[in-house]
Amino acid sequence: MYDPLHDSSPGCGEKYPDSYWADVSTDAPVDDGQVKQDIDVDVAIIGAGYTGLSCALHLAREHGIKAHILEANKTAWGCSGRNAGFILKSSGRKSYSQMSNQWGEEVMRGIYGEMCAGVETVNALIAEGIDCDQQAAGFIKVAHKPKAMKELISLANLQKKMFGYDVEILSKDDVRHRYMDDHNAYGAIRYQDGFGLNPLKLAWGYHKIAREAGVEIHCSTPVIDWHEKKSANEIKEKNRQQLITPNGIVTAKKVVVATNGYTPKGFHPLITNRTLPVLSQIIVTEPLTDEQLLACNFLTSNVVMDTRALKYYYRKLPDNRILFGGRGAITGKSAEDPYYAKRLLSVLKTSFPALQNLKYDYAWSGWICMSLDDIPHIYQNDEHSVFYSMGYCGSGVSFSVQAGKRLAQKVAGKAVPNLPLYQKALPKFPLAPLRRVGQWGYFQYGRIKDNWF
Ligand SMILES: Cc1cc2nc3c(=O)[nH]c(=O)nc-3n(C[C@H](O)[C@H](O)[C@H](O)COP(=O)(O)OP(=O)(O)OC[C@H]3O[C@@H](n4cnc5c(N)ncnc54)[C@H](O)[C@@H]3O)c2cc1C
Repeated sequence: MYDPLHDSSPGCGEKYPDSYWADVSTDAPVDDGQVKQDIDVDVAIIGAGYTGLSCALHLAREHGIKAHILEANKTAWGCSGRNAGFILKSSGRKSYSQMSNQWGEEVMRGIYGEMCAGVETVNALIAEGIDCDQQAAGFIKVAHKPKAMKELISLANLQKKMFGYDVEILSKDDVRHRYMDDHNAYGAIRYQDGFGLNPLKLAWGYHKIAREAGVEIHCSTPVIDWHEKKSANEIKEKNRQQLITPNGIVTAKKVVVATNGYTPKGFHPLITNRTLPVLSQIIVTEPLTDEQLLACNFLTSNVVMDTRALKYYYRKLPDNRILFGGRGAITGKSAEDPYYAKRLLSVLKTSFPALQNLKYDYAWSGWICMSLDDIPHIYQNDEHSVFYSMGYCGSGVSFSVQAGKRLAQKVAGKAVPNLPLYQKALPKFPLAPLRRVGQWGYFQYGRIKDNWF
């Protein structure tokens, strides 16, 4: 499997992974084909995931700027077509109380407002006619041990007080009788407004809306090299960016890098050593029979996540399969080792012992993008010719759309809110060549913490 820390390109025209989403989604959108000659454009966007598509759409609709998207493979071939499809008011890994301690309450509220705006924009775009198999609203955060329930209750109280957020506190019995009989659940809190959907259909919907707005989307067009072309007349004209693709050079006034966890090795100095791609693994089981559903009292199709340091997440899909996810392998080389899918299945069975004979039909993984300070960053170079948004830390389905909207404002030269997300560059990882060793160390720490403390 492509490994962003080792490979210099994610491929060219690669097919989608063998995921459940790729199997059940029909009606793939038409694109504008591979770039086959040299072209001059105002704005080139690299990557056709949610970030790139949202940036292009908002550039067209709100700023009258036509963008050209260059995608190495197919629309949403990266994370956007492989994720779990949880729409949540969050991104990154920093808690709201950590934000408040670090930056003060006003900034924390500003960030919360951006997360909410992300969900609102997703809902507004879906309302334009995207059919993406939305499920009933509700996000259940499950305590994986009694001690974790105390932390969830204080989180719920904080969110009620700070944001007037409607958070329900559920005892162990409430969870097991009203939602699902998860034997690893020691209580939970439940938000009314998270939900699950088909992430690939969502991306295809954005793709169609963006093209209708005039965006050109060139699939099978990897950017394999990148030069800055010095302008002959430095006073009148700015330097141009030259993006080398297999069959044509794209010369752009401005470039947006929307490659997140799929950013190739050494792609651009603005990003080098500032992200850590981490594999997240998903399995989708065979459909549960009525007897199996009854045996686990699996009543809900709400999205569920636990409180472990190394989190597990799951939900019941519309055809009664269970999607179950957690951490995957460390390197691309071992990504397809069935060990990781089998490990997820065995954890699922500890939650639902009645499903001992259950098998999985689908298994795949994808690269999430970690940042050193646990928040996404939307930033640019000093010349305002190269922009990026990345570092969603595995939580970007809704926020990437807001990030794309803010990126579009930056590209158009408009002001964006004065928040650390938008005003600071991704920090560099110290000892960057050892990032994977650090990741391995964190996995060991997480395992010990989750099991023993
Ligand atoms: C298994 C998994 C589960 C997840 N579940 C959730 C969830 O439930 N909820 C949630 O909020 N978030 C989730 N996420 C994270 C979420 O999917 C991402 O944050 C989001 O999709 C990022 O979108 P993006 O557009 O920034 O990047 P991507 O969708 O990864 O798009 C990047 C694109 O860039 C292209 N590219 C890279 N290099 C080049 C190049 N040189 N030239 C041209 N194109 C290039 C790639 O081909 C790729 O298509 C999950 C992620 C994974 C992997």
